[in-house]
Amino acid sequence: MVLNGEGEAKFDLEFKKEGRRAVISGWVEANLLLECQCCLEPLVWSMRDEVHLGVVSSIDEGNILPEPLEPLLLDETGLIGVADIVADELLLAIPAIPQHSHCASPNTETEAETNTDSRENPFAVLARLKTIRN
Ligand SMILES: [Zn+2]
Repeated sequence: MVLNGEGEAKFDLEFKKEGRRAVISGWVEANLLLECQCCLEPLVWSMRDEVHLGVVSSIDEGNILPEPLEPLLLDETGLIGVADIVADELLLAIPAIPQHSHCASPNTETEAETNTDSRENPFAVLARLKTIRN
């Protein structure tokens, strides 16, 4: 999903207990290099997400977590990978259709034309992608 797997993600996570529940809270931030789905040029996506996870061992338990906790389902190993938490947060932060702000707003005639281009035959878009990758 990213053009370049290099770079750094920063995070600060605190593992604690709230009553009988294990809770992980903190934040994750990174600058991700994505591909603008309008002009296909690189796009730097700056993200910072707050993390509020409640550790659960079943989906039923996850359904009754109080706000703002999101469920983190323990697998059979009972281990939690910090890198997995960070990777999940990064994945959630990536927009479905990344676009430059200037590509997304059809204010001028030039940009309107670009938008028309983006609605062309999907196979033509694929062919162009292939050309770029070659
Ligand atoms: Zn763009």
